[in-house]
Amino acid sequence: MVDYLIVGAGFSGCVLAERIATVLGKKCLIVEKRSHIGGNAYDYYNEHGILVHKYGPHIFHTNSPKVVEYLSQFTEWNQYEHKVLANVDGKNIPVPFNLNSLAQAFPAEKAEHLEKLLLEHFGYGTKIPILQLRQSTSGELADLAEFIYQKIFLHYTKKQWNLEPDELDDAVTARVPVFISHDNRYFQDDFQGMPSFGYTELFNKMIGNNPLIDVKLNTDYNDIQGSIQFKKLIFTGPIDEYFDYKFGALPYRSLRFEHETYNTDYYQETGTINYPNTYDYTRRTELKYLTSQIHEKTTCTIEFPQPFIIGENEPYYPIPQTHNNTLYSKYVREAEMIADSVIFCGRLADYKYYNMDQVVARALHIFEKRINLE
Ligand code: FAD
Ligand code: UDP
Repeated sequence: MVDYLIVGAGFSGCVLAERIATVLGKKCLIVEKRSHIGGNAYDYYNEHGILVHKYGPHIFHTNSPKVVEYLSQFTEWNQYEHKVLANVDGKNIPVPFNLNSLAQAFPAEKAEHLEKLLLEHFGYGTKIPILQLRQSTSGELADLAEFIYQKIFLHYTKKQWNLEPDELDDAVTARVPVFISHDNRYFQDDFQGMPSFGYTELFNKMIGNNPLIDVKLNTDYNDIQGSIQFKKLIFTGPIDEYFDYKFGALPYRSLRFEHETYNTDYYQETGTINYPNTYDYTRRTELKYLTSQIHEKTTCTIEFPQPFIIGENEPYYPIPQTHNNTLYSKYVREAEMIADSVIFCGRLADYKYYNMDQVVARALHIFEKRINLE
């Protein structure tokens, strides 16, 4: 008999297990269908000894001092500020599209004129989502918006989601707004860094040495239902799977990753290069930039978007669209009916496009507001 059975050993499951065991002194069992902890943030040393993010590059950034304080119990941090270039017409220009991108994309006189126009309209330091900029009525701004839309957003989004930008919730492309600035960083969050010894080590420190937390790997919750006694269930897998898809399957987008190692110390000029064109991959990330590892070889991860097929690949991205959110809310109503015995938390269980810091914040919130009160 355990107090909490927790399905999934990603950030959601591990943060909740750690809090329940450390603060409440209660027993947790985590069941994880993969062969490792860490969820999609899992990293490992490949056959060349290079630290690789198995499920795609994970860069930590947050504006939440609370999340930093919590995670810093389990890791030290390397300073890292991510920079991305996008391959546009044979040139690598900064993304988010900013005033430096403008200078690279246009002849000097035109770039200066457009910069003046942007500064007059929006002011230095502002961020404008592309779908908003596209509503510009002035001829030159409208032309610029169309240029950025075509060159940066349209093809990348079609590849990543199999949808055009305006078919998705505006928040998706607003993650990478046009930035009226010379700041080339991908994120402007107050805190940006990478766990010094990797994510898996962070997870090991979080749950590895706690006698009140047991982990069963290679164990699918669907296969052990009924065989383990528990007082409460925490489910961090897909919410539609939990309810046997009774209202229909929630759509997700998947990816295939290729990790390539090269006999050179660096392969590309920055952490990530995006390919917002018709290549069949979206981006290539060179892990050593992120991890600060020193090694004579280097490994890159290339991301190929795929349709998600239940049982065949992984549901990496919930697809933010109104009708999917409506379907999700039917599952929320089911979840509310069993809220006394089951807690849903995480990117899959909440069907939300969370970053890691948002998932940690969500798990801490659920612990404080729903678990620590019992
Ligand atoms: P997950 O990490 O998905 O963990 C859920 C776990 O539950 C999985 O290990 C799964 O195997 C397990 N599970 C599911 N069903 C069952 C079952 N039936 N039985 C047993 N186990 C089950 N965030 C950032 O902040 N920065 C980034 O740079 C970043 N990059 C990303 C890149 C990619 C390609 C992706 C896909 C995500 C990225 N994220 C990034 C988001 C980040 O991965 C998530 O916010 C975070 O990992 C979510 O944690 P979670 O615990 O909710 O879910
Ligand atoms: N995007 C784009 N071109 C780019 C970068 C991003 O069109 O060069 C759009 C695309 O729709 C993408 C979304 O902005 O899915 C969010 O990008 P982000 O880099 O935040 O995606 P993630 O890292 O979560 O995959």
